[in-house]
Amino acid sequence: MNKINRFTTLNDALEAIFGDEVSLRRRDRIYGGDINDAFCLTLSNGSRVFMKANSMQNANFFTAEALGLWALGQTGEIGVPEALGTGIDRDGHFSFLLMEFIEKAPRNKTYWETFGHRLAALHRCDTTAFVPNGEENGTYGFLEDNFIGANVQRNTPKASWIDFYRECRLLPQIRLVDSHLDASMRKGLAYLLDHLDSFLPEPDFPSLLHGDLWSGNTLCGSDGTAWILDPAAYVGHSEADLAMTQLFGGFPETFYRAYHEVLPIDSGYDERRDMYHLYHLLNHLNLFGRSYLGEVKEVLKRYTGI
Ligand code: ADP
Repeated sequence: MNKINRFTTLNDALEAIFGDEVSLRRRDRIYGGDINDAFCLTLSNGSRVFMKANSMQNANFFTAEALGLWALGQTGEIGVPEALGTGIDRDGHFSFLLMEFIEKAPRNKTYWETFGHRLAALHRCDTTAFVPNGEENGTYGFLEDNFIGANVQRNTPKASWIDFYRECRLLPQIRLVDSHLDASMRKGLAYLLDHLDSFLPEPDFPSLLHGDLWSGNTLCGSDGTAWILDPAAYVGHSEADLAMTQLFGGFPETFYRAYHEVLPIDSGYDERRDMYHLYHLLNHLNLFGRSYLGEVKEVLKRYTGI
């Protein structure tokens, strides 16, 4: 399955996408990302393209991101930039991802309401195209592994969401953060893994998730509505995406009310939110260090008393 074109130089990519008569006129740096260098490329025909660049060794960040953008875009339910191509520019010694440039604009009056409706609509979409061989192989997972921040995110399909969350989400992160853990935290985490089915339900249906949906991965486009960026997409429980929106402060109440109108939020969700935060907190502990230890401990205490 080759959904995204791959190129060997940036110029080849621009020519293949926009035609040989078009050349690169300017390259302006955009600041704000955590991991990659970002640029607005202006072409000789006046059009603009968004480019992320990283070292050649990190080209797989971009093939993974492009696949996530492709999957979200396939649903047609929410604004997501079109991935145009990825590649490794051996002359310039960098890897790149080209995508549609989203022009920033002020939010329209119904920004949060529309965003809530659209995210819920995304979560209701059929997901069979986004796991290998559809349900035969397992319902939860994704076409390929991808990244959460700079860490690998395993997406091996599983028939059970609870098994998937244990084996592809919590367990790999717990292994990575082991050096930060003391004996009681190890005990608490082991308890959680063993009793995950008493904390999480299987969803009524699987949902395609953005996977890393916090405000920094959204942009208001020229139509005044939300576009979602920088996905770590996979098929999972819709509550995992909702929980991520609430990890760093949350979106306004209007967003959740609107979401609920299209896809009712289960009354037990509040109890489960921190369980979904745990994956991201462990990932942050692993990427950014001990400042996240306290929050991990609090979540453990909350669910296990340890
Ligand atoms: P990183 O992969 O390093 O986290 P981001 O996805 O956060 O990078 O993008 C870096 C900056 O570029 C952010 O300020 C973001 O708003 C902006 N940006 C991201 N994608 C686009 C796009 N398609 N069009 C315009 N600006 C974008």
